[in-house]
Amino acid sequence: MMISEKLGDNESETKKRKLLMEYEQNIRKKIHLNLEKMEDTETKLKIFPILGDEYFRSVETEKMYVGKVNEKKETSRLIKELSSHWPLAGRSHLKRVRWTQQKDVFEILIRPVEINESSENYSLMSVLGLAQINTTGLMDSVAICEVPKYPALTYDQYKVAKEIWPVQFREDKNIEKSLKGDLFNHEEQRRIVEFMNMCISTAQYGDEKVGCVIVDPVTSKVIAIANDRREVHPIQHAVMVAVDLVARSQGGGSWDITGKHVYHHPFSKEEMDSKISKIKKMNPGKDAKKLYLPYLCTGYDAYISREPCIMCSMALVHSRIRRVFYIHNSPWGALGSQCKLHIQEGLNHHYDVFRVELEDSVQNCNESEKINSKEKFNCNSNS
Ligand SMILES: [Zn+2]
Repeated sequence: MMISEKLGDNESETKKRKLLMEYEQNIRKKIHLNLEKMEDTETKLKIFPILGDEYFRSVETEKMYVGKVNEKKETSRLIKELSSHWPLAGRSHLKRVRWTQQKDVFEILIRPVEINESSENYSLMSVLGLAQINTTGLMDSVAICEVPKYPALTYDQYKVAKEIWPVQFREDKNIEKSLKGDLFNHEEQRRIVEFMNMCISTAQYGDEKVGCVIVDPVTSKVIAIANDRREVHPIQHAVMVAVDLVARSQGGGSWDITGKHVYHHPFSKEEMDSKISKIKKMNPGKDAKKLYLPYLCTGYDAYISREPCIMCSMALVHSRIRRVFYIHNSPWGALGSQCKLHIQEGLNHHYDVFRVELEDSVQNCNESEKINSKEKFNCNSNS
């Protein structure tokens, strides 16, 4: 019997869920076999973090007046006085002094060279202007130096910046690993390929060929699988459908989607009741279900075959997704192409985004998976 027959509208929800769980298990089983083949040929996965442009920019500089201190004991007092007049606002990455090659002589940042300020014929007194600075220990000579304009966000930026002027740098280990492609261990990479394959398999059943899989990364449990349904309803993009299915798995949801290849993990009543009662205790007198549902994807990861649009990316913000992985860029995508919505200031939730590149043999696995799925479920795909 074909699944399309098995999943007729009159079938009970429980039976549907059981069949769809079998569908998920079968996909996983087959993909695991493919992954074993992939390992034999040492196929690798490439994962690119979608970070703000500031992580990739070259080190820019700006001009500062720099004095010389030849009395070591005056240094901390001078730092204090100069800082009270010119507090290096927004430039906390800069160290105020640096050693010179002359014994016991330091260089000290006095203040930025202002825009339109003539940088010719300046002297210590003209640079200090009306500021009441005790100049004891400051030599007469003042120079204009280039200093790094922005804090170093990566070790590569730091290496360049520190050669220009001493700077503070706190390494973000996750960012460094992420840029080197070392953020995910072998097992995590296997899972990413697995869920991406699931996504690609599902995508073929959609109006637009987009698939979305939502996963609980702690348990690797698939919470929802969705394909695109925009011909049924203009906003039923795969991501929107997936988020709604997650809501449905938690007792909510706005759409009664009964597509043949969508799936949502049926949380047990006990599981849901315990979550709702915890929320009730924390928020007495409020509708616990309503409170819980807006945060329905908290801690979950979304795997999407194509970069989501603005509407879908915002839905992922509202639902508090943890991470998003996608394969193909989209000209109207909001997570790297048109904009980087996930890092927009002012939003009350941010998530990490990665673009995933599957190498040829993995893509081939996807192709065979597509064919196998079609045969298995006898789906009338219009792709
Ligand atoms: Zn969309």
